Amino acid sequence: MSELPFARPAGFEHLVACESPGEGIWFVFRGTDLLVELGPPDPRPSDDPRVRQRPAWARLPLLKNHNWLGPAALRTLYLGRLGGRDCWAAELVADAAAPAPASSWVGLRTLFSVLEDTHFALAGRALQLIDWDRTHQFCGRCGTPTEAKREERVRFCPACKLPAYPRVAPAVMGLVRRDRELLLARSPHFPPGMWSALAGFVEPGESLEQCLAREVAEEVGVQIRNIRYFTSQSWPFPHSMMIAFTCEWAGGDIRPQFGEIEEANWFDVLQLPKIPSKISIARRLIDAFSAQIRGEFANTAK
Ligand SMILES: [Zn+2]
Repeated sequence: MSELPFARPAGFEHLVACESPGEGIWFVFRGTDLLVELGPPDPRPSDDPRVRQRPAWARLPLLKNHNWLGPAALRTLYLGRLGGRDCWAAELVADAAAPAPASSWVGLRTLFSVLEDTHFALAGRALQLIDWDRTHQFCGRCGTPTEAKREERVRFCPACKLPAYPRVAPAVMGLVRRDRELLLARSPHFPPGMWSALAGFVEPGESLEQCLAREVAEEVGVQIRNIRYFTSQSWPFPHSMMIAFTCEWAGGDIRPQFGEIEEANWFDVLQLPKIPSKISIARRLIDAFSAQIRGEFANTAK
């Protein structure tokens, strides 16, 4: 199985401090938009209902001068090394003009499959670390301004010693099967016509499997069994870890939870509706499980 988007690129060395900066690849954000040099619009339709059109190509700024942003940067973080080059993340103010000629601000979803895969993955990492750095400038216990450390990725309170590490919020996703059908649902914030597997955040005091059973019961009123791990994906919007499972229907009729689930239904694996883009684990999960089920029924038909 190939790596999902946002997995750590092969050969990437995670580092916190840079001893002697050389030529660097820059991940410069303004809010959640990344600074890139852009090609013309790609005439092919986008596979993501959230993205109207993608550019034909995009590339990141590559610079020898590691202080090129000067005081314009709200924060600058060293990410590590990729292919002999230093990787830097930086954030500019919300209304900043693009600091490099012929560059634009573009959301990450639009850059999926456009930007080089390794750069796309590190852009997700950069976005999460910038968000963490921005929201941990003061100690959560005593309010003192925090300080970065050179030895590890942490912001540390000089007064009360409380450390704040980058946070990752675990969430589970479950694709429920009943015979040759899959349970798909629509959240109110989905683009029109798009359906996906159920998902929710893990609560303190429960296992991933318990979380999944609870989420499925709450969101659609269905009981599940035979929960099997599928795979996981780092998800930088803003700092999640999505852990995906397959499971089987064990009982209950679909009753969509008011406010959370707009619609939920069983779909035959041969007649699936519009599902999410290949950027997400949801698509990988639905593609793999429906292929497995189609295979089982093709074998029984022989
Ligand atoms: Zn403190």
